[in-house]
Amino acid sequence: AYVIAQPCVDVKDKACVDECPVDCIYEGDRSLYINPNECVDCGACEPVCPTEAIFYEEDLPEEWAWYKDAAVDFFSEV
Ligand code: SF4
Repeated sequence: AYVIAQPCVDVKDKACVDECPVDCIYEGDRSLYINPNECVDCGACEPVCPTEAIFYEEDLPEEWAWYKDAAVDFFSEV
């Protein structure tokens, strides 16, 4: 799945939401989150993010690797 990392925090531009064909990007308090169980890995969201916050999970920068778990936690709480 694709993952939204730190650059989205307190920005939440939402350009990605309009691009996602399966509507799997949801809004949290300070960031948007991609539901890893619904993402179809199409990549459409990544280039439209103005802060370049979106990465394929295996391409996440090391310091933001934990955002993958943050997304899993976000969707397990709802
Ligand atoms: Fe949606 Fe595609 Fe981005 Fe996954 S990769 S969140 S399916 S736009």
